[in-house]
Amino acid sequence: MAKQVRWVCPICNGGLLAPTRPRKNDVRRYCLPCSAKSGRLVDRVAPSLDRQREKRTAIVQQKQKAKRVRIARKLQPKKEQQRVDEMRAKMIHKEAERIWELMKPYHKGKRLPQIVIARGQNRGRQYGHASSWANQIQVNVDRTQSVSRSRRVWEVLAHELCHCAVPPIVRNGARDVHSREFYHCLRDVWQRRWGCEISFAKVSTWGYSVDYIIQAQAEDRIDWLLPTATDKADALKPVWDGA
Ligand SMILES: [Zn+2]
Ligand SMILES: [Zn+2]
Repeated sequence: MAKQVRWVCPICNGGLLAPTRPRKNDVRRYCLPCSAKSGRLVDRVAPSLDRQREKRTAIVQQKQKAKRVRIARKLQPKKEQQRVDEMRAKMIHKEAERIWELMKPYHKGKRLPQIVIARGQNRGRQYGHASSWANQIQVNVDRTQSVSRSRRVWEVLAHELCHCAVPPIVRNGARDVHSREFYHCLRDVWQRRWGCEISFAKVSTWGYSVDYIIQAQAEDRIDWLLPTATDKADALKPVWDGA
């Protein structure tokens, strides 16, 4: 015989034992005296079944909640990195606007180049590049940023923007990319934005080596940190004066 439970009439409390799932037309489902009195079918209820159902529902809800929490935890680092990336992009764009303004005497009011922020690309080889004809630059930013790498981002930003402000100059058939004009523009930014005194006294030829001559005189002037996802939430406030 199937398992029997107690079914009770909610009106008169009269009850009896019946299977857990009586047929729809099983009279034991209904309290006939109360039905006759009210003129409508009065259903009996099975308190033990109700309790079981509540328990099952609670377990299912708990499982669903645990799953939601599990998924949220999994997505958390990604979300955190996204937040950090957005913050960095904001900082870099804002700073680019300032630098570009300082380069105005060279680009004569050309619109701000498009800035692509790439992560972990060409690591250790190249920190960025510029396409002056497309008026676009790329700045590479690591997932985590040390102080020196953060500093490098600002230096690279200025350097690449400078390529758009002072495009390559053709002299005697050769393209002079890191020209004398280029470095005079870049020096203006270092001096005016970052308050460095840059001397070109040690420059013998105009070329990429001039970057090192500039950095040697100014390396520790920029200490704005880019935020990283590994930071604690309260340590996320970037050390940067361009907000
Ligand atoms: Zn009844
Ligand atoms: Zn360059």
